[in-house]
Amino acid sequence: MSQQLTPEYLINLGQQFGTPLYVYHAEKIREQYQRLTTAFQGSNTVFFYACKALTNINILKYVCGLGANVDCSSINEVRLALHAGFPKERILYTSNGIAFDEIAEAKDLGVIINIDSLSNLEKFGNKYGHSYPVGIRLRPNIMAGGNLKISTGHDKSKFGIPVDQADQILQLVDKYNLHIADLHIHTGSEIKDVDVFVKGIEILFDLIPKFKELKFIDLGGGFKVPYKEGDAETNISLLAKTVADAFANHPNPGGRPLQVWFEPGKFLVSECGYFITKVNVLKDTAAATFVSVDSGFNHLIRPMFYDAYHRIENISNPNGTPKRYSVVGNICETDTFAWDRTINEVREGDYLVFYNAGAYGFEMSSNFNSRYKPAEVLVSGGQAHLIRRRDRFEDLLRNQIEL
Ligand SMILES: *Cc1c(COP(=O)(O)O)cnc(C)c1O
Repeated sequence: MSQQLTPEYLINLGQQFGTPLYVYHAEKIREQYQRLTTAFQGSNTVFFYACKALTNINILKYVCGLGANVDCSSINEVRLALHAGFPKERILYTSNGIAFDEIAEAKDLGVIINIDSLSNLEKFGNKYGHSYPVGIRLRPNIMAGGNLKISTGHDKSKFGIPVDQADQILQLVDKYNLHIADLHIHTGSEIKDVDVFVKGIEILFDLIPKFKELKFIDLGGGFKVPYKEGDAETNISLLAKTVADAFANHPNPGGRPLQVWFEPGKFLVSECGYFITKVNVLKDTAAATFVSVDSGFNHLIRPMFYDAYHRIENISNPNGTPKRYSVVGNICETDTFAWDRTINEVREGDYLVFYNAGAYGFEMSSNFNSRYKPAEVLVSGGQAHLIRRRDRFEDLLRNQIEL
């Protein structure tokens, strides 16, 4: 049965911890992880949680306890993962556009590294030669993903080394006797079409025979989750079968089976998250009835940044007459969560909950307008734990140097 927190329980949490409030449901993360491992059972596949989606240390510890690996996008995420207890062998640092110092630091920490430029690959070869295995992040020149901001694999994207530069990669591998252990592609986020992954595999299979020490193929993340009723979702079972078939059609050159990696971020933590806000003001105008909540894009930027749709429910008035509203924030800039949305009648003081708020919610929050970042609560085993206190006034001045 699918894990879901009830509206009554969420109201309780809103009252107990105050709003705005992020709530994460641990067992939902486990359920999502098990959906993956069940679908890929027996197929030598490993999942690295792309932790930039949600890095609260307690979430990292929980994911570590599930047995998943972790994928990091900065050296600080690597440090957080180590702090959370992930052993270095289960930490992957997929870099993009970083200074070589950070790659050297990741090497010193002993984690797995994917390099995404010829320049850093050359520096790596120059310094370490064959002594440390490394992966290559390739740009497959495939257009995929929910929108341009989250599409990373197309032929105008900054990410990875373009596959059309494979010759230059091979020259470097040859020159420095590099030990290439994995090839990586990540085409983007919100990929519902499993054929995109197959296209990626097809492209990699042209290259695989050229890397004699290859052990892993890393197909990145980007599984789509439903944000509203009827939304498409990546069919995980179909993906498992399609990937297995693609590999069966391409026998490995060296006879060694390759392990397949995925890097799901949103898939693991989106649905576990609830963002609870309270209605400050109702404003009736000719154009719309505005509902202003005690939050804004400083706390949940996805609607303004990606035109993302988050389901919004008035949990204080579940039987109220449905009406149309514009749900807005309190930031001094256009700050709309939903433009013309049917919601059960809203009154000032009601709690509105935003669903699917676990991924890229708190993580992309800021102190814009000198507002506090929200608190975070983890519900686990039926217990609610505060895992980050709300900012306080001192936090706004912390690190500032008053002259
Ligand atoms: C962001 C990212 C992911 C995860 O993307 P989701 O859409 O959250 O699954 C995976 N791999 C890399 C390299 C990323 O940058």
